[in-house]
Amino acid sequence: MNKTAIVVGSGFGGISAALRMKAMGYDVSLFEKLDQLGGRARVFKKSGFTFDAGPTVITAPFLFDELFKLFKKNRKNYVKFVSLDPWYRFYFSSNKKIFNYSASLKDTEEEISKFNAEDVKGYKNLLDFSEKIFNVGFEQLSFVPFHNFFFMIKQIPKLIKLKSYLSVYKLVSKFIKNEQIRQAFSIQPLLLGGNPIATTSIYNLIHFLERKWGVHYALGGTGQIIKAFEKLMKEEKISINKNSEVTEILLQDKKAIGIKVSKKKIYADKIVLNTDPAFTYKNLINSENNVKWNKKKVEKMDYSMGLFVIYFGTSILYKNIAHHTIWMGKRYQGLLKDIFNNQILADDFSLYLHRPTATDKSMAPNNCDCFYVLSPVPNLKKSFDWKNYGKIYEKKILKALEDTIMPNLTKNLKVCFHMSPNDFRKDYNSLFGSGFSISPIFKQSAWFRFHNKSENFKNLYFVGAGCHPGAGVPGVISSAKVLENIIKNE
Ligand SMILES: Cc1cc2nc3c(=O)[nH]c(=O)nc-3n(C[C@H](O)[C@H](O)[C@H](O)COP(=O)(O)OP(=O)(O)OC[C@H]3O[C@@H](n4cnc5c(N)ncnc54)[C@H](O)[C@@H]3O)c2cc1C
Repeated sequence: MNKTAIVVGSGFGGISAALRMKAMGYDVSLFEKLDQLGGRARVFKKSGFTFDAGPTVITAPFLFDELFKLFKKNRKNYVKFVSLDPWYRFYFSSNKKIFNYSASLKDTEEEISKFNAEDVKGYKNLLDFSEKIFNVGFEQLSFVPFHNFFFMIKQIPKLIKLKSYLSVYKLVSKFIKNEQIRQAFSIQPLLLGGNPIATTSIYNLIHFLERKWGVHYALGGTGQIIKAFEKLMKEEKISINKNSEVTEILLQDKKAIGIKVSKKKIYADKIVLNTDPAFTYKNLINSENNVKWNKKKVEKMDYSMGLFVIYFGTSILYKNIAHHTIWMGKRYQGLLKDIFNNQILADDFSLYLHRPTATDKSMAPNNCDCFYVLSPVPNLKKSFDWKNYGKIYEKKILKALEDTIMPNLTKNLKVCFHMSPNDFRKDYNSLFGSGFSISPIFKQSAWFRFHNKSENFKNLYFVGAGCHPGAGVPGVISSAKVLENIIKNE
């Protein structure tokens, strides 16, 4: 008889773990609370529009390819990626300036020189430094387990040499003088739930990661990647159970032995959780042996921000809007402080606008455009009445777009709905409705983050945004490589 594994949650982390466990010879059963796979990468379909709910920027395609290769299959036969250009367009609402950040280094340098010619050299130096961070942070550390404290200690000199004690914004500011370019090159942690002013500068590796492998889009949307994985899992006889919320992790003394789902008990040799570790330790693990992450400790941790996401379709085309636009509001550091430290919803905001129809017409009916716009907001550590304020906030954001880069937007809306932190809490079981689990600050990274292997319970493992190496699609797929590493060495 084969060994058995249960995977709970079908985000990119859970799916990658299910595939890797299968390739290691386990009989795998996947349980997902929602009626579709993908977690934050699920899809909403409305009136002919296809909305990817979450991740849109695809980097490091080799990480997807590897999962197909485990079964001697080729990802390109399941889902196609195309590279984007420009990668991102920054629109600064305070002075209406535009900065295109693209695959061509020469074009990017020309764009930088429109803001400050001296920063071109600074950018080259920033990129060189990002490569050094990448060589350690990504190549050496993102696929290895971090549950051994002595291993962590050994890494400290390297991390100090790379100035990981600085924040992303501080490091960028050492190379770049222009404030708007500083903002453009330090905002990336926000896409992973981190405050650029507080997130460890290790996350600057993203600059080099993007340059090395490019920025991609999956034809048909990110949801097509999930569909491709679902097909692969079915071909490989992984049992997929949707609408199956796990309500308890079954424990026997200091060992995980199974799960409870719809009042049924199901047992397996290994239990892999792609659920939010904070929510899980607080609500699904009911044992006095849960010493390391008791309820109090978990609540005290620092959480990533919440997200307010408006999905909308228009009856006309907004041809001047790029695939990825970062719409910068008038404040940067002050706004970040309001979101992360003061935990108040400010009057102003900065936005990320996604227009997949810039690349892929199949996402909307003929001559229509498909969008989502995301506003980082405080998480629910301080409660907020999103139920009543959601519609008002939605209108406010659409008005800001209408007044700047999308004329007559309100008149041209065909479909419009939103997700607030309340929905993240309810749909994804995310503690405090946070967008990306605990935040990626230094004291919650590597050994200090939730471990991929439970500290207190044998046969219990974690993959996904809350554990090492962290949030973002490359991070959560890598967490399943860490899991494989652990299981193979047990
Ligand atoms: C709006 C948005 C935009 C983003 N953009 C990008 C981007 O462009 N690029 C990028 O790399 N990253 C991006 N991210 C981050 C990235 O999407 C996430 O970090 C990543 O997808 C999280 O994957 P995960 O494996 O942790 O699982 P999740 O996606 O969090 O999925 C976990 C699943 O487990 C299920 N679950 C929870 N509890 C239970 C239970 N008890 N029983 C059964 N099932 C359960 C949940 O319902 C969910 O389906 C974005 C995130 C959001 C929200």
